[in-house]
Amino acid sequence: MIVPPPLKDDCFALPPGVYWTPVDEALTRLRQRLRPVTQVETVPVAKALGRVLAQDVHACRSNPPAPNAAVDGYGFAHAALGVPPHHLPLHPGRAAAGTPFEGTVPAGHALRILTGAMLPEGIDTVVLEEDVAVDETGAIAFQGGIGRGANTRQAGEDVATGDLALPAGHVLRPHDFALLTALGVIEVQVRKRLRVGILSTGDELVEPGNEAGPDRIFDANRPMLLALAEIWGFEPIDLGRAPDRRKAVQGCLQRAARRTDAILTSGGASAGDEDHLSAVLRTYGTLNDWRIAMKPGRPLALAMWQGVPVFGLPGNPVAAFVCALIFARPALTLLSGAGWTQPLAVSVPAAFEKRKKAGRREYLRARLDAQGRAQVFHSEGSGRISGLSWAEGLIELPDGEMRVVEDTPVRFLPYSGFGF
Ligand code: AMP
Ligand code: MG
Repeated sequence: MIVPPPLKDDCFALPPGVYWTPVDEALTRLRQRLRPVTQVETVPVAKALGRVLAQDVHACRSNPPAPNAAVDGYGFAHAALGVPPHHLPLHPGRAAAGTPFEGTVPAGHALRILTGAMLPEGIDTVVLEEDVAVDETGAIAFQGGIGRGANTRQAGEDVATGDLALPAGHVLRPHDFALLTALGVIEVQVRKRLRVGILSTGDELVEPGNEAGPDRIFDANRPMLLALAEIWGFEPIDLGRAPDRRKAVQGCLQRAARRTDAILTSGGASAGDEDHLSAVLRTYGTLNDWRIAMKPGRPLALAMWQGVPVFGLPGNPVAAFVCALIFARPALTLLSGAGWTQPLAVSVPAAFEKRKKAGRREYLRARLDAQGRAQVFHSEGSGRISGLSWAEGLIELPDGEMRVVEDTPVRFLPYSGFGF
């Protein structure tokens, strides 16, 4: 069993003097400093949906294992064909998938053969049933122009025994089951699921379903972040809510460190009086406030807590969501063994206008209209949770100054590219 080395406590350190960190620089830093932390186990292929391969997988057998017919028709030796049109006497018997023809077909003869049947000795070419006339004497006739090996599949033409089937780090999806099963692979070495703890902080938060006075709000981030962790193939671990008290926050993190590989928190991550999370991380862990030059969600508190990386997301649900997609997802996939993940981005014409200042990257909640142009949500307020559900993705506007008018090309990051 591989025991991954622990991440270093200074793994999130920033060079001195850094104030606003551009998004790309923050991403590069995360990518350089993190590595897989999960252990390895062996599971049957059929139980490995969504799991990350811990090792390269090689084919245990070829696909196809032997040459076979690609169509229903008649097989023969190509070398024995004379000048067209061709007339070949039919050899008795037939070859079908799973019922091979035992014996040799003499040169100059044809054998009835069905799709998937192993090519018998003496056959290297198949003529399609529809292209053949069969006469009452039991001979077949067909036109010329058929090449050697036509309508057959060669042994290993897809994958040969010993070939690399799938590389380490690959996340297994349904079609991979077909490939691995065809190649005789029964079990695979996969990474254990990354255990991702989700913690909310704030005295104003109330558990859904409970009484909530006007000074209280329901904890909206936790179900969202738990669902993201699940959809990304991790093992979500609900760490509950911590009130705005240092001891309580500390206790939650203490308990969490023993049963998680990474922790996502939301709220309390700025440097304000009530930001107890960053205070605790600073005092008892190694906290690095990454002020990211982006909107929404500038503060991102990154810390090592008893060997576990903590990603302190902003409290506002919109900011927490965007930071989870942009920063937490690639960092977590890297920790999980699946490698760094980049969101899918497509260039689409804008259906909106906007003047954007230099100095920060901006993410807007967006969807495509019937013409494939990007519309943005009517408000950029980071408390407007409804915009997340209205949207079908994010528009990413670059760090520099930008003036968007109708039909300006903009980068659209569809939710589907984030795995949901
Ligand atoms: P904070 O970062 O703790 O100052 O929180 C910023 C804003 O996000 C405040 O308006 C909080 O009430 C809100 N907030 C923090 N955590 C959550 C949560 N789990 N669900 C909904 N809103 C939250
Ligand atoms: Mg708070």
